[in-house]
Amino acid sequence: MANKTIGISDELAAYVLQLGTREPDVLARLRAETAAIPQHGMQVAPEQGAFLALLVELLGAHRCIEVGTFTGYSSTAVALALPDGGQVVCCDVSEEWTALARTYWREAGVRDKIDLRIAPASDTLDELIASGEEGTFDLAFIDADKAGYDGYYERCLRLIRPGGLIALDNTLWGGKVIEDGADDADTAAIRALNAKLASDERVTMCLLPLADGVTLARRR
Ligand code: CA
Repeated sequence: MANKTIGISDELAAYVLQLGTREPDVLARLRAETAAIPQHGMQVAPEQGAFLALLVELLGAHRCIEVGTFTGYSSTAVALALPDGGQVVCCDVSEEWTALARTYWREAGVRDKIDLRIAPASDTLDELIASGEEGTFDLAFIDADKAGYDGYYERCLRLIRPGGLIALDNTLWGGKVIEDGADDADTAAIRALNAKLASDERVTMCLLPLADGVTLARRR
């Protein structure tokens, strides 16, 4: 979840897509192809792609991390916004889904900006830390297994520079964060992280009700 912003009508979502996203043709094609995959709900909403691209520009970002690449929508959006020489380290465990991402990275002309690491993201992030890359990234986007979010957040907080930004997806988790009966592990993980972020003095933060909830945390 979810391909559109939570709580708005399909008609309003269509309006946002039409006038609010400037979605490149290559991303529209990727979205159409991903729609045929049963797990397509894992793809970010088009307005999130546009938002991430804008964040890249605002930050003047050169180096980005993505935890959870899936079929490549967000990484392509980010890479298109990066200047020449920019880089996205993409963490995922699925060869199958990232094969589609590779196709679209090539089609979008951004393949040389992508550093795909097929491994558990925690391992990849630990390797980056071990190789002395702490404080060298501008932006991290976390959108993977929810139980792993806290660990990814802590590692990304070390890897981004002061003033760098972490964006965490699905922090409203389909509204389950406030449902009394929702006591599954994923919901519990998101709730715990939201509570932690709300008072985390290491960052300035804001939970945006964009798509399924996007929390921005800027390292102080
Ligand atoms: Ca997501």
